[in-house]
Amino acid sequence: MSWKENWSQASVLVAGNKMRQPQPFTSHLCSHTMRAFWFFLVIVCVGLDHAVHGQSSDNTALTEQYLGEAKALNLEGKYEEANVKFRKILALNEVIPSELCYHFAETLFAIGQFQNSKNFVSKYFELTGQGGDNYDEVKKLEGMVDEQLTAIRECHRCSITGYRYFPCSTCDQTGEVEEECYYCHGHGIASCPKCNGDGVLISANALGGNDYHTCDRCEGNGQETCPICNGETTLTNICPTCSGFLYETSKDLCDHQDHPEDGFVVPYEFEKSQY
Ligand SMILES: [Zn+2]
Ligand SMILES: [Zn+2]
Ligand SMILES: [Zn+2]
Ligand SMILES: [Zn+2]
Repeated sequence: MSWKENWSQASVLVAGNKMRQPQPFTSHLCSHTMRAFWFFLVIVCVGLDHAVHGQSSDNTALTEQYLGEAKALNLEGKYEEANVKFRKILALNEVIPSELCYHFAETLFAIGQFQNSKNFVSKYFELTGQGGDNYDEVKKLEGMVDEQLTAIRECHRCSITGYRYFPCSTCDQTGEVEEECYYCHGHGIASCPKCNGDGVLISANALGGNDYHTCDRCEGNGQETCPICNGETTLTNICPTCSGFLYETSKDLCDHQDHPEDGFVVPYEFEKSQY
């Protein structure tokens, strides 16, 4: 039996056992089944519609409830808790009321998130123009936020978000770290790429056999000095914590004053990092 016959027999076998011609979809379903299917589809759609609208009105009620609670917390000076409430409202993904922008901007200002506060001030003006109920209050808040943002921009002791720098603890302010060579895993030697570590090169000879030669690259050792670290076993990389910036950002808001008692002073000529 030739390979062609073999192949065609195999194909028939597969066709007979496994493969079926695709049938038109509707031929499987009698008209009664189809009607039931459409009826089912309509029920599903109506159900979904109800679910979506029901959830939407639930969210509107929740937005009002959280906003009321957040405003009360603001009045009590519990800004961190108010912040949590406002973020719950944002997570509902509802349309943001302009009133929320005002009160949230106040909260953000109080907890030192000045850039975020500025964003919600801008959002308030975007939504209300000059006709907002709290126009004067928001205008005053905008002035205070801008004053803080200017102070941050002019300060060399804090990040662009206003958090104080402290000396990088990872690299001891060298901007670099020594790490084990990724290529040789700290051994300083690597397998010879020419003989794949065998020390021997094999070539076919004219008689159909093999000739064996000592690898000329590694002189039969099968190994060579690691080409990545040059045998040093370590590599010097830029510090992953400070990216060579020498300082990292703390969680403390900056008062834009020197604090020599901390044991370090950020030099004046220091250029603010972008993080
Ligand atoms: Zn070799
Ligand atoms: Zn290496
Ligand atoms: Zn560092
Ligand atoms: Zn500062």
